[in-house]
Amino acid sequence: MTSTLLTGIGLLATQDPEFGELTDAALLISDGTIGWLGPRAQAPAADRAVELDGRCVLPGFVDSHAHLVFAGDRAAEFAARMIGQPYTAGGIRSTVQATRQATDQQLRTNLARLAGELLAAGVTTFECKSGYGLDTETEQRSVRLAGELTGEVSYLGAHVVPAGVDRAEYVELVCGPMLQACAPHAKWVDVFCEQGAFDEDESRAVLTAGLAAGLLPRLHANQLTAGGGVRLAVELDAASADHCTYLRPSDIEALASSNTVATLLPLVEFSTRSPYPDARSLLDAGATVALATDCNPGSGFSTSMPLAIALAVREMRMSPAEALYAATVGGAKALRRNDIGQLTAGYRADLTVLDAPSYLHLAYRPGVPLIQQVWRAGEPAWTRSALQ
Ligand SMILES: [Zn+2]
Repeated sequence: MTSTLLTGIGLLATQDPEFGELTDAALLISDGTIGWLGPRAQAPAADRAVELDGRCVLPGFVDSHAHLVFAGDRAAEFAARMIGQPYTAGGIRSTVQATRQATDQQLRTNLARLAGELLAAGVTTFECKSGYGLDTETEQRSVRLAGELTGEVSYLGAHVVPAGVDRAEYVELVCGPMLQACAPHAKWVDVFCEQGAFDEDESRAVLTAGLAAGLLPRLHANQLTAGGGVRLAVELDAASADHCTYLRPSDIEALASSNTVATLLPLVEFSTRSPYPDARSLLDAGATVALATDCNPGSGFSTSMPLAIALAVREMRMSPAEALYAATVGGAKALRRNDIGQLTAGYRADLTVLDAPSYLHLAYRPGVPLIQQVWRAGEPAWTRSALQ
């Protein structure tokens, strides 16, 4: 058993309701988990000590929504959108062709690069979806490759109907042979419930089939229109309804009285120049809110959780404390995890050290690389070099 004491913590933002925020604090890591935390003066002895010189320590961010298994580049589509072309669900198909043609090794290289970016952005747990294969072979490859890097893998065969394929036949494939091929490699079943993608009945069929195959439901809901996605998420006790950009008052009430997390993805609204979700109404109604990156090649190609936090504060009127909670505890709840997302004795020692005295700087200094160190399961996983 080895132990490490992080000491000289200027501000320890535990996200644990019992401890709240501690100043001049220390935190003991024992065998990969958090053993103790409290005032520096009361810190227990440890095998080694790391002095943090007044820096702020947070739980590692939990990114509960990302699409990292793909090939190809859609920078030109982004540039066209910035001079006036609208975002539609159909752009996904251009990534599908490149992904089907890519080798496992090419997909693995891209995935590892993006996972490295997430880590450098302070993310210690991420979810990763398939959804750019849209045939059984490529969807299975996608969930298998994602599973090499994370346990939070979502089967998203129901991303869009591929070009030239009959809708009803495709939904049958997604609920049948494709699901059977992918389920052993996934934890979650996801669906893009949206005009231009899958309607409420099709989405229900996909999620119900996934449940029967042992997967847990989550979905893309109410991104472009106030459709039935949120209603369906609550009906099925989905872990999370993601996007929530266009909500009716009844959707907000339904989320607030459920165990379904409202996962907001402001980097998408930023990158598609769309209206931001009404986080204030969700929070004021008592809904649990998560923030995630939705990193994907089409609607928002960013791995920056700090920028998502800055946007949530600046554009969605979340307080910095609410945004930090959403990016840590909120993400953990959206993945139905109770071992990550907060700094509590017994939780996994996943933490982020900021080169700043407070997490307020995440929103106060947007775009500035403030992540100094990232620890995962009690070990240093990433450190900013002097050259960066
Ligand atoms: Zn998504």
